[in-house]
Amino acid sequence: MLAKSIAVSLALAQFASAAEYWESFKSQVNPKNISIPSIPQTTSYDEVTQCTYYEASNFQFVESEWPTPWETATSNGMNKSAEFKALYNSINWGNMPNISARTMGADGAIDMSGYDESNDPDCWWSATTCTVPKHKDVNPDIYTCPEPETWGLTYDDGPNCSHNAFYDFLEEQKLKATMFYIGSNVVDWPVGAQRGVKDGHHIADHTWSHQMMTTLSNEEVLAELYYTQKAIKMVTGVTPRHWRPAFGDVDDRVRWIATQLNLTTVLWNLDTDDWAAGASEPVSQVQGNYEDFIKMGSNGTFATSGNIVLTHEIDNMTMQMAIDYLPQIKKNYKNVLDVATCMNITTPYMENSVKFAPFGKTSTTSSVVTAAGSATSASASSSDSAQTANKESSASKVSATSALALALIVAIFA
Ligand SMILES: [Zn+2]
Repeated sequence: MLAKSIAVSLALAQFASAAEYWESFKSQVNPKNISIPSIPQTTSYDEVTQCTYYEASNFQFVESEWPTPWETATSNGMNKSAEFKALYNSINWGNMPNISARTMGADGAIDMSGYDESNDPDCWWSATTCTVPKHKDVNPDIYTCPEPETWGLTYDDGPNCSHNAFYDFLEEQKLKATMFYIGSNVVDWPVGAQRGVKDGHHIADHTWSHQMMTTLSNEEVLAELYYTQKAIKMVTGVTPRHWRPAFGDVDDRVRWIATQLNLTTVLWNLDTDDWAAGASEPVSQVQGNYEDFIKMGSNGTFATSGNIVLTHEIDNMTMQMAIDYLPQIKKNYKNVLDVATCMNITTPYMENSVKFAPFGKTSTTSSVVTAAGSATSASASSSDSAQTANKESSASKVSATSALALALIVAIFA
């Protein structure tokens, strides 16, 4: 008992202010010197091979030290850990905007009844697409690149296990994107996250279990963000300054909690709906979205400012669409780049030693990827089932891999 209380008070001392939380993460990875292991998962273009369970040499996932992947980040008692309690107690919750957690309706959607949408007192994006917080002491959102004819390139929900061809393509095209990584995917597929950092992409937090954040309690919101920050740091050596809420579901309460972790919310102003392609929307409709957005680069829509476009690395359907359209996007826009660079943010991580080139200056530090292979396109098959598998698979890598294999089989025989 005594030992326990000493441990807690030491942990409390560690977080004199919540903003310093990331300094206690002891990562074995130097973000400036990442080497990708030459394992089948990094050298193959076969989805099943890429998505077969592996151990990273510099990150071991110890179940007892992490929330259960794909469950709310407090689910297995990680809200009771000394480090989390110290963080929670270091926050002055009395300053938080007085906003209650939302509830889910019987139809599985957020219940918006009773919310004053015309005044939108909480700047609730799901209700009004509000991006300018109403409350004080909240970091303002980023939702568009300010420079004209600029496409803000963002991919959500990674790292995806079957991404070699996609990341190779981005590298060949000298394109950097903002990658919003889900904490559960980072611990499941650590080498994928390491490649994101090695390739110079702007890595950001996309929560631990990808839930509607405004429906979670204060403690749950904090845990979803905190354990994803920790996962990204432990796996890649960097701690993000940016995050994106799943489904864009954010209000000033959630923004305020993110601000306590020094996180700024990044939304978007163009949505491809690529995640729905072939499922709830026809592929042609999503292709139409891409084509419309591409035209906007040269028809005057973005003559005085740019955009941030929502796209995903969920599966090979979304990644193949990116590969198909990026050459045209580059032709129609002056700049195609990650959000940090388009905002001229040269230190996008808590680790100020990791620097990005200022806007307009090409980075001279592009890295070489060790993954071998010459395939240049991701397979566009199996999208529907693989997407469902990806979105709904739970903790186990084995089950995710089986689902993926099943999806392949379904695609082959469909
Ligand atoms: Zn997402």
